Amino acid sequence: MAEYDENNIFAKILRGEIPCDKVYEDEYVLAFNDISPLKPVHILVIPKEAYVSIDDFGANASSEEVSGFFAAISKIAAEKGVDGSGFRAIANTGDDGGQEVPHFHMHILGGARVGKMVS
Ligand code: 5GP
Repeated sequence: MAEYDENNIFAKILRGEIPCDKVYEDEYVLAFNDISPLKPVHILVIPKEAYVSIDDFGANASSEEVSGFFAAISKIAAEKGVDGSGFRAIANTGDDGGQEVPHFHMHILGGARVGKMVS
């Protein structure tokens, strides 16, 4: 597993060094709008602690962090009104997964048909 890079862009957002368009925050997560939205709703949800990927998070996060993270996904989906219409939550992971930012994040995509699972 790759080492955590303290200078990745989401670490800088968490430290307040660069701004974000925040949509939700609690003790476990920060969520903000993606800078290049692919759907009307495109939110990134990130844990506040340093995890490279979902792989790292699943292996090393506490049960409180894991449950807090997924509880936040549900709260955000409800707040954004996509819980009824549906959405896709995805975590790109590593090179083959197309992960660009090496701080674990889930994309919440909705507000329109998201399309086929993989293209
Ligand atoms: P990944 O490919 O790692 O799963 O997704 C990274 C996402 O982060 C991309 O959708 C990209 O648009 C978004 N992103 C990259 N830099 C920034 C930034 O500085 N601010 C925000 N809000 N999103 C960013």
